Amino acid sequence: MDFQPDDVQQAIQAAARAVARERIAPGARERDRTGHFPAEEIRELGRLGLLGTTIPEALGGTGAGTVAYALAMMELAAADCSVAVTASVTNMVNETIARWGTEEQKARCCPRLSSGEWLAGAFGLSEPHAGSDPAAMRTRAERRGDRWVLNGEKQWITSGDVAGVIVVWARTDDAGGAGKGISAFLVERGTPGLSAGRHEAKMGQRSSSTVPLVLEDCAVPGGAMLGRPGDGMRIALAALDGGRIGIGAQAVGVMDAALEASVRYARERQAFGRPIAQHQAIAFQLADVAVARDAARLLVLRAAMLKEAGRPFSREAAMAKLFASEAAQRAVATGVQVHGGYGYTEEFVVERLYRDARVQTIYEGTSEIQRLVISRDLLRDP
Ligand SMILES: Cc1cc2nc3c(=O)[nH]c(=O)nc-3n(C[C@H](O)[C@H](O)[C@H](O)COP(=O)(O)OP(=O)(O)OC[C@H]3O[C@@H](n4cnc5c(N)ncnc54)[C@H](O)[C@@H]3O)c2cc1C
Repeated sequence: MDFQPDDVQQAIQAAARAVARERIAPGARERDRTGHFPAEEIRELGRLGLLGTTIPEALGGTGAGTVAYALAMMELAAADCSVAVTASVTNMVNETIARWGTEEQKARCCPRLSSGEWLAGAFGLSEPHAGSDPAAMRTRAERRGDRWVLNGEKQWITSGDVAGVIVVWARTDDAGGAGKGISAFLVERGTPGLSAGRHEAKMGQRSSSTVPLVLEDCAVPGGAMLGRPGDGMRIALAALDGGRIGIGAQAVGVMDAALEASVRYARERQAFGRPIAQHQAIAFQLADVAVARDAARLLVLRAAMLKEAGRPFSREAAMAKLFASEAAQRAVATGVQVHGGYGYTEEFVVERLYRDARVQTIYEGTSEIQRLVISRDLLRDP
C-alpha cells in the first residue's frame, strides 16, 4: 500500500493548488456576493487539463486518473466551491460521454469539454417531482422519423444555461416498470426547444449556475442517444458513483479551508490574556476537525483508488461522500464558532464556507440516499 501520490498525481495537485490560490481564491468572495459565473476561471482549468482529468489524452483529456482528479478537486474547493462544483460536473459529464458514447459522440464532445471550449457539461437528471427517485421522472423522448423529440422539465441543473452539452434523461418506454424505460440523450446548447429558467437564489455556491430547464418539442438527431435504449438509469447511477468521489473531495477541500482559517484565527485572537488557541476547549475542537478531515480524505482516496483500479467502488464512494459531507458540516460550524461574532460576518471566509458546505449533504444523492446505497450493498445476499 502506498499513500504517496505518484509524479502525475503530484503534478496535477500542484497545478490545481497554484491556480486555486493565485487565480480562483482572490475573486471568490466577490463572485459569491454578485453571483457572477466564473467563466474565466473555468477556461483556465480547461487550459490546465482539469476538466478532463480522467479522460484519455486521445480525447483531449489528461488521463491522469481518479486519484489525481480527487486531489485537484480538494484544492479547487478549498478556494471556491462554486468553481469546484462546476468543474466536477463537467468532469463527470465528460467521463460519462467517454465511457458510453459512440466514437462520433466522443470525438465531438470530449475535446471541447476537456479544453473549456465548451464552458461546461451539464447533467440533466433531476426534475421538479423527482430528485432522490429519478426513476419517477416525467420527461419523455419520442421517436419521430430520424429524430428524437424531448418534452419535459428538469430542475436544479448545474451549468444548465452555460453548458455546451447536457446529458438529458428521458422516458422512452413505459413498459418494464420503474427505471427500465429511461434513456440518456446528448442535447447541445442552442438546440431549438431547449430553454433555461432563471438562476436559483441559493444559500451558498452562489456563483455556480443552477437552473431549471424546459424541453418543449426539443428535437435532437437520431444519433444523440447515449448508450442503448433503456440504458439511462445504468448510465446515471454509474456517473453518480464517480461523481460522489468529486463531492466527497469537495467537502474535504472545505474542511481544509475551514481548518486553516480557524487555526490562523485561534492563534491571533486574544481572550482572557492569551490566544484562544491556548484555551483547551478551542484547541480540542480544532483537533476534532483535523481528525475528521484526514478520515474523510482517506475515504475519498480509497474510493478513487478502487475506481482507478477498475474494481467495484459504489459502496465506498457513497461512504466517502456521506462521511466527508457530514464532517464538513461540523468543520464549518466549528470554524464559525471559533471566530465568534466575526465568524457570522462576510468579512471572514468561514461564513461563506458555512453556506457553501450545506448543499454537499444534498446534491448527487442526499445523506439518506447514501445510507440507502451503503445498506443495500451491505445487506445484499452473498
Ligand atoms: C445546488 C444544487 C445543484 C444541483 N445540481 C444538479 C445537477 O446538476 N443535476 C441534477 O440532475 N440534479 C442536481 N441537483 C439536484 C439534487 O441532486 C437533488 O436536490 C437531490 O437528489 C435531492 O432531491 P430533491 O431535492 O428532490 O429532494 P427529495 O427527493 O424530495 O428529498 C427530500 C428529503 O427526503 C429524503 N428522502 C427521499 N427519499 C428517501 C428515502 N427513500 N429514504 C429516506 N429519505 C428519503 C431526502 O434525503 C431528503 O432529505 C442539484 C441540487 C442542488 C440544490
